[in-house]
Amino acid sequence: MANICGCELQAHRPEQAPKQPHTHLHRVAIVGPPNSGKSTLFNKLTGLRQKVANYPGVTVEQRTGRIRLAHNREVELIDLPGIYSLDPRSEDERVTHDVLTGRMPGVSRPDAVILILDSTNLSRHLILAAPVLSLGLPTLVVLNMADALREGGGALDTSALAARLGAPVVLASAAKGEGLEPVHEFLNRQFAVPHPVQLPVIQDIPKCRAWASRIGAEASYRAPAPPVWTRRLDAVFLHPLFGPLVFILVVLAVFQTIFVGAEPLMNAVEAAITWSGSEIGRLLPASPVRDLIVEGVWGGVGSVIVFLPQILLLFLFIGILEDSGYLARAALIADRTMAKVGLQGKSFIPLLSAYACAVPAIMATRTIENKRDRIATILIAPFMTCSARLPVYTLFIAAFISEGPFLGPFVGRRTAAMVGLYILGFLAAFATARLLKSSILKSERTPFVLELPPYRRPTLRSLGLRLYDRARIFLRRAGTVILTAVVILWILAHVPLIDGHAPPIEHSAAGTLGRALEPLIAPLGFNWKIGIGLISSLAARETIVGTLGTIYGIQGDESAPGLQAALHRDLTPGGAVALLVFFAFAMQCMSTVAVVRRETGGWKWPVLQFVYMGSLAYLGALAANWIVTAWIS
Ligand code: GDP
Repeated sequence: MANICGCELQAHRPEQAPKQPHTHLHRVAIVGPPNSGKSTLFNKLTGLRQKVANYPGVTVEQRTGRIRLAHNREVELIDLPGIYSLDPRSEDERVTHDVLTGRMPGVSRPDAVILILDSTNLSRHLILAAPVLSLGLPTLVVLNMADALREGGGALDTSALAARLGAPVVLASAAKGEGLEPVHEFLNRQFAVPHPVQLPVIQDIPKCRAWASRIGAEASYRAPAPPVWTRRLDAVFLHPLFGPLVFILVVLAVFQTIFVGAEPLMNAVEAAITWSGSEIGRLLPASPVRDLIVEGVWGGVGSVIVFLPQILLLFLFIGILEDSGYLARAALIADRTMAKVGLQGKSFIPLLSAYACAVPAIMATRTIENKRDRIATILIAPFMTCSARLPVYTLFIAAFISEGPFLGPFVGRRTAAMVGLYILGFLAAFATARLLKSSILKSERTPFVLELPPYRRPTLRSLGLRLYDRARIFLRRAGTVILTAVVILWILAHVPLIDGHAPPIEHSAAGTLGRALEPLIAPLGFNWKIGIGLISSLAARETIVGTLGTIYGIQGDESAPGLQAALHRDLTPGGAVALLVFFAFAMQCMSTVAVVRRETGGWKWPVLQFVYMGSLAYLGALAANWIVTAWIS
């Protein structure tokens, strides 16, 4: 056997093996400062042929995509995190540094580099050219935003710059798709090696700055005038009085649109799911498998997918705010307020996204260089009322609070209750931040250094790709975590079989589990049915809605009057309020636990966070039940 294998191997081994097998896929890294247009160029070149993974052992995302070249050849493009220097200070910089120097374990060193710099901000961006060119890899320098340079009356001699840098230089506009032929040419020609020129030493940033301004001057660089609109808009948006006012209006408008605007879309998705579920139910013969598919899979997963429009709308807003350049201003305005709890303006953006979902919010904390601020932001993000809490809030508020005017004719009691829960989460987050930043995560205040980009019109392409990414991630979660939880629960609620029939729910495995939990949760006003719901909601909060539906034997969703009535009969008002408080505080989301572990590189912080939030939830619910019960009697 071994012999045959050996012979085969020998027979297949070519006489003179080429040093590089022709299957070797060339890898080209896109490097540049944040906001220089890396993602825009990357998307333009690769289209949808891209995938996102993580670098081994770290939390930074690795975006790769393929470009097809002439003669059916392909190159792999890697979009590296944005950096201002190759000096590894933040995690993003370390990853970029390690990949470019071939020190990232499991990732081969790129064969060439596309260095992308913002041509309207060249005096600052050229600083990065010295360390990147010193790596000695074939490099193409793309000076992006040529359109904006032109419009602002800026100019530059690219051949003079190329001669000084010893590398080809092209002026291009990634957003407009202008000047990209030289990029393809560079990739097609198997890359040109830089000419040897005198470059400052890599780590010496002040020297690079001397150098960068000299090179800029020698290439007759004339910076464009700041766009008129940017100056005009900033006069309002950064105004000491109007700035915060606009800021508050923007935040209110985002929330209003998400809650009011998403409703018709959500109703449509819901109708589609209900309709398709009943169609499937009719097609399949009556059997436990049909019940599992229709009630468990369709009903359970469907009750979550209903929230897709709302989540996409929120991400659309955040995308528009970010791409237009407003979010950087909002962070600047929020900086002073955030300072009151010991955090910084950069925490604002992740915390705002946490209203959609804590998972992307926690990933967005990567831009915070100060490690302690970053951990504090990660720890408080899940207190922000994420969209998974909405179905739970909606169900219990509708069941226990009758509609009626609260603050004049405009704010009803149910709306007030909902807003109250948002405020509760917000207060918990800020109290926790204060606590952390005055104790275990105390640090020097970081000065605010976020570059304010000029205002730009967001491109449909970039917004579309964001939403596509988000939808994919959300649906994957519904199809994995939530599906598994719902199916397991459905099975537990139907075993052990008695004479071939499912037992009454209280004698099922799920019922036994819930009753075992009862002594612990009875002080909160919860019965064993809520106990089962709590167990299932550990996977993802919104699962409790589907679970309670199964347990009470009622098909339907949170708007079904049947489930509301059943809950109303079965729970005390104290228990209902306690449940809402519990959901406001508890960390019932395995995806969040997993992402915190990944982002903090260990179990310490997620365990601490889980225990802290759980204790707060338990004590808060206990107090709520006690107060409401005492108040009513
Ligand atoms: P990254 O942070 O380097 O990935 O930068 P992005 O690709 O997200 O681009 C930052 C902003 O610049 C976005 O709002 C883009 O739409 C915009 N942008 C990118 N390329 C160009 C360009 O060639 N011209 C102009 N005017 N804007 C651009």
